[in-house]
Amino acid sequence: MNASTRSRAALGISAAFILFAPFVLSEFYVTLMNYIGLATLIALGLVLLTGVAGLMSFGQQAFAGIGAYATGVLTVVYGGSPWLGLAAGLAITGVVATGLGLITVRLSGYYLPLSTIAWGISVYFLFGNLEILGRHNGLHGVPALELAGWTLDTGRSFYVLIWPVTLTALFAARNLLDSRAGRAVRALRFRATMAESFGIDTARLKLLIFLYAALLASLSGWLYAHFLRFVNPSSFTVNVGVEYLFMAVVGGASQVWGAVIGASLLTLLKEWLKDILPRFFDQSGNYEVIVFGLLMLPLLHRARDGLMPIFARLTGGGEVAERPVLAPALTKRIRPVKGDALLEVEAVRKNFGGLAAVQGVSFEVRAGEILGLIGPNGAGKSTVFNLVTGVLPANGGSIRFRGTRVDTLPARRIARLGIARTFQHVNLVSNMSVLENVAVGAHLRGARGTVSAMLRFDRSEERRLLHEAASQIERVGLGDHLAEPAGSLPLGKQRIVEIARALAADPLLLLLDEPAAGLRLQEKQALAELLSRLRAESMSILLVEHDMEFVMGLVDRLVVMDFGEKIAEGLPAQIQIDPVVLEAYLGGQ
Ligand code: ADP
Ligand code: MG
Repeated sequence: MNASTRSRAALGISAAFILFAPFVLSEFYVTLMNYIGLATLIALGLVLLTGVAGLMSFGQQAFAGIGAYATGVLTVVYGGSPWLGLAAGLAITGVVATGLGLITVRLSGYYLPLSTIAWGISVYFLFGNLEILGRHNGLHGVPALELAGWTLDTGRSFYVLIWPVTLTALFAARNLLDSRAGRAVRALRFRATMAESFGIDTARLKLLIFLYAALLASLSGWLYAHFLRFVNPSSFTVNVGVEYLFMAVVGGASQVWGAVIGASLLTLLKEWLKDILPRFFDQSGNYEVIVFGLLMLPLLHRARDGLMPIFARLTGGGEVAERPVLAPALTKRIRPVKGDALLEVEAVRKNFGGLAAVQGVSFEVRAGEILGLIGPNGAGKSTVFNLVTGVLPANGGSIRFRGTRVDTLPARRIARLGIARTFQHVNLVSNMSVLENVAVGAHLRGARGTVSAMLRFDRSEERRLLHEAASQIERVGLGDHLAEPAGSLPLGKQRIVEIARALAADPLLLLLDEPAAGLRLQEKQALAELLSRLRAESMSILLVEHDMEFVMGLVDRLVVMDFGEKIAEGLPAQIQIDPVVLEAYLGGQ
């Protein structure tokens, strides 16, 4: 059996199990599976939020609480319909999560987890203290759901609602991760600057994921309330929030199916401990919590990426990236007329504290040329590069691209105008395939968002994006590495992947920061050939380079910087014999 048949078989067996479980299992186990389904919904939100986007939350149980209490109050206190309760719960969660997300997702380090803990604690006390919510007794007599004339008042009948909902959420999340929007989410955790440089609005995307995770939790809370038929604050303590986070991490925080594994394992383990421990200890203590915690330690230590990778290995691994099928080419920008001024940098300045890293530098890049920006280490080249691309704000001067002022725009707006870049320190998402990394470059050439990705309405656009990415990878000569994780390539090849990613944006101006660094002689020659070929196809290139030899035979003109100032400009032949340049270079070496 090969890997993909085995993995399909595993999925088939799981699906069959979920389908037939209510017919073969006892009511007790069906109920347990219901709890697993409810927990999976919340853990799934955490997989996306924490595992993929890197935003740690201890506050998901509070959103579940909002979903549960909203329907509790509406049905018990006001006698409303549970469906109205669902709508109210989701609406309140939506508003609260958006407000909270606007404040918190921009926080970094431990501020975010701390603020979710604070949020969780305050919501818990709110539940316990409000008269209308029944204080610590909660709300009893939540009505059973009616579905097509059928009353869902047993574990078995409720199963028919919970699992289809849970599976839908799982497939939607899987679809999301495997899309234009999903690649953007996967990129923003470790490579936010890169993502912004390719037009991705990282703050908005983080907020969307935060909102989606909150809505999943709220939905789970609504189901929970109608399944248990009562609501009380003890289901929504911060402890419970920590358990959900455990589920996501133990399952495999970055993988959708990890949520099911984590939720199953922890729910069963807790149940089993509750059953077995009282035989050894006295009946009254909550020993399961202690043993549970102690079991988590070695598990997290031994399997840092959670159990999903182990499970995937047993079942034949995940999906294997392949060369995408042929698809209609994406539309391309109209190239400017050769020789026209494309980028105009005028008297631009940048200070870092007392250090004047760039002091009034001016130059222009013309359409169809390769302009080399050279200078010794620390001359200010990368800083100029970052000013042009909007990664850093300038302290003075102006930068225009095709007549538009860009020095006041954020990186993602500049990308939209047709500037694409590589990074001096390689900025690839190492666990993503070369194909997906390059497809991130084509982000702005697609338009489909998170919702169409979940519903798979994005497939034809997605094929075109992936086909474009594959073409660029072949263009730079890395066709054989398309399916490999980008991080597994040698550094020299990773730099070339960066160029392919920039080309996938269909830029009018390509900015390369030391692309030849770390390349072997042969690779340097191949790179020079590639850049010449791009110029022949009327690409304009600003090439920042430390290696004089590499640029001499390649560029049309050179600008030389030293200590933040432009010290020379001209043809390579002139620069090569310019005494000021020689002095700077030899002195700076
Ligand atoms: P180059 O790319 O030509 O080697 P850089 O533009 O990276 O030079 O750096 C120019 C000067 O600015 C150096 O002295 C460097 O130490 C300093 N510098 C660069 N980036 C920063 C930063 N983010 N904060 C403080 N100093 C910086
Ligand atoms: Mg540099």
